[in-house]
Amino acid sequence: MIVARAIADVRAALADRRRGRIGLVPTMGALHDGHLALLAAARASCETVVMSLFVNPAQFGEPGDLNGYPRDEARDLAHAEASGVDVVFAPSAAEMYPPGYQTWVEVTELGSMLEGRHRPGHFRGVATICLKLFTIVRPDLAFYGQKDAQQIEVLRRMVADLHLELELVVVPTVRDPDGLALSSRNTRLTPEERDRALALPRALAARDAETARAILEAAGLEIDYVEVAPFDPPTLAAAVRVGSTRLIDNVPLEEEL
Ligand code: AMP
Repeated sequence: MIVARAIADVRAALADRRRGRIGLVPTMGALHDGHLALLAAARASCETVVMSLFVNPAQFGEPGDLNGYPRDEARDLAHAEASGVDVVFAPSAAEMYPPGYQTWVEVTELGSMLEGRHRPGHFRGVATICLKLFTIVRPDLAFYGQKDAQQIEVLRRMVADLHLELELVVVPTVRDPDGLALSSRNTRLTPEERDRALALPRALAARDAETARAILEAAGLEIDYVEVAPFDPPTLAAAVRVGSTRLIDNVPLEEEL
């Protein structure tokens, strides 16, 4: 497995691998079974698998969230290797945003609702870093988790609007046996908070926004939003705060409401 830190190095590593399909799995590290499901999907359908490992400062609002984001590169590289990754791209922030950097991608409508309303600038950071990764890696397929449903909608829009030649592959949300969606932020929950957080998947399982809201309120969770998002398919999406940790989850509603 090649670990490339520089853009030129990842391009060089991929130069003679373009005959087969190249799959990209963008991550911010702190890998869990959700990430591993994306890597497995990429491995199953691509000749070359590239995993990016970059905690993108541009998509964080609160500095505390960025600084407190879990990082363990050695562990992540071991997981990547065990998952059959061919190339890891793990750049520094300066490699991706050198001095003088000033170009941003904004998906105006889809990027400003729901998560975008509560995290201004978040999807601008996401769209920009993903476009940069697409330009650097030039993947045939890029793999994303259903867990971040709005991210997929924003990126689908960007791919269509900018005529990008790649396919987005969506991988179902991986959950703990008790229903909680795996997230790198779950490690911040105390056992008591984790217990209360279970109201989130329980609420979404109702597949109805009003019922879900009542369940979240009864559990004493602070609700940022819980509503049916105008995605394809329509998706019941929620964001809640449990103590100082913010959690998101969603359930696609296959039939039109
Ligand atoms: P992150 O490292 O949080 O940026 O996530 C990297 C990718 O993993 C994104 O496409 C996420 O949607 C995906 N992901 C995160 N959690 C899960 C999960 N529980 N199940 C499936 N995919 C996930």
